[in-house]
Amino acid sequence: MDVHVKQGGVVNEAIATVEPKATDAGATAALDMSPRVANRAAKPGAAEMSNFDIVSHYFELAADRLGIEPDLRAVLRSAYREVQVQIPVRCLDGKIHVFSGYRVQHNGARGPYKGGVRYHEEVDLDEVRALAALMTWKTAITGIPFGGAKGGINCPAERLSKAELQLITRSFIDKIEKLLGPTRDIPAPDVNTNAQVMAWMMDEYGKLHGHTPAIVTGKPISLGGSLGRQEATGRGLVYMFREAARTLELHPERTRVVLQGFGNVGSWAARIFCELGCKLIGVSDVGGAISSASGIDPEALLAHIQAGGKLSEYSGPGVEAIASDELLQLDCEVLVPAALGGTIHAANAEQIRARMIIEGANSPTTPTADEILHEKGVFIVPDVLANAGGVVVSYFEWVQNLQHFRWGEREVNDKLGNIMRRAYREVRDRAARDHATMRVAAYELGIERVLEAARDRGYV
Ligand code: NAD
Repeated sequence: MDVHVKQGGVVNEAIATVEPKATDAGATAALDMSPRVANRAAKPGAAEMSNFDIVSHYFELAADRLGIEPDLRAVLRSAYREVQVQIPVRCLDGKIHVFSGYRVQHNGARGPYKGGVRYHEEVDLDEVRALAALMTWKTAITGIPFGGAKGGINCPAERLSKAELQLITRSFIDKIEKLLGPTRDIPAPDVNTNAQVMAWMMDEYGKLHGHTPAIVTGKPISLGGSLGRQEATGRGLVYMFREAARTLELHPERTRVVLQGFGNVGSWAARIFCELGCKLIGVSDVGGAISSASGIDPEALLAHIQAGGKLSEYSGPGVEAIASDELLQLDCEVLVPAALGGTIHAANAEQIRARMIIEGANSPTTPTADEILHEKGVFIVPDVLANAGGVVVSYFEWVQNLQHFRWGEREVNDKLGNIMRRAYREVRDRAARDHATMRVAAYELGIERVLEAARDRGYV
């Protein structure tokens, strides 16, 4: 099969540099990104443990406090189904590259499996497992009728062309379509996937099953996406700030915000924080970081990036480039990690000067860092609560698709606010009652609800 894709630009540089001879075993391994190779790779970054270890640690902490029996704990900790598929794709260099696709369905006691799909070179089964478990607790904490799942493909998404991404996406859906369905498992966007990728997924699924908008969420509006979905995770983070700000007596106009990551979650959070009157004083992406004591205009920064500029080269008033490590040390009221997992760890937690951390990313804080920050009196709104805005509006999108009826944007945002505020208050009250952190209280609530549903079904 020859795939015709547009050549040129920086597309596929890394892949195109691989020029193996057919007999060269080492070079063949370079083309083969399937699990044997990928899962062995050392993890980048300085986190002292993997995402799965982080999630398992918090689960065990809450399960201990709830006194859950070891046998039940084993059911809740492990995944219901883990699938790993081969994705061979002929790339721009004319060669077939083999990637691995994963879908982990962690727990479906409360409803169909739900969770995003991440495209990133470092994705492996361990990470997808962790993210799937987080989705189980997240949907339970917010009280929406889904279970938890996650998917991923270990492809270098940022260096692939649109045509290659489309081939990879369609191949993935072909391999896992039997596991999916509007009442079985509903994917959504995550790191390096977006509305376009969801549109390809829906289209591929539709070839086999007929037009099925409710098979994925986070779709383009033209294909049944929900108004307000793109900004939902960022908006949810700001709802969390508004709730927590009362406890810490923070006022938006005197609140300085630092954001790590300026993708979907980070860029929307930046805009909505600034609309509220907060000041964005530092922001980073994978390529670098910038700061400005007088504030960074997120709209202007976004326009600069959309015009092909690098975040680290943005030159607004008072803006200077800083080292990525320095970003977390900036003096601010609110720090929002909105990039990858494990970025706040034992080696940098002590230097954090924020009063509040609102976790936009999944698993950004390792347990050691969590303890250090707790000792320092930093208030943390944990990922399983803070970044749930995305899956809540995904739920609304699914409902709208099943009803074949579109809601207005205001209605979506209001309903999101109601659910996020209710979840925050339930977690806060539980934390106060049990003298627990927000994270432990959130896990306790999530675990109890999943266990109740599993028992009611007769599953355990
Ligand atoms: P994205 O791909 O749109 O953006 C990721 C951003 O992180 C990019 O700006 C990238 O440059 C940056 N980044 C990557 N590595 C970095 C590093 N080492 N330092 C600083 N920045 C870095 O992804 P997204 O959808 O915005 O997701 C971000 C995080 O939020 C992920 O952890 C994801 O699981 C979580 N999340 C996303 C959603 C959603 O609706 N998209 C929902 C809940 C949680």
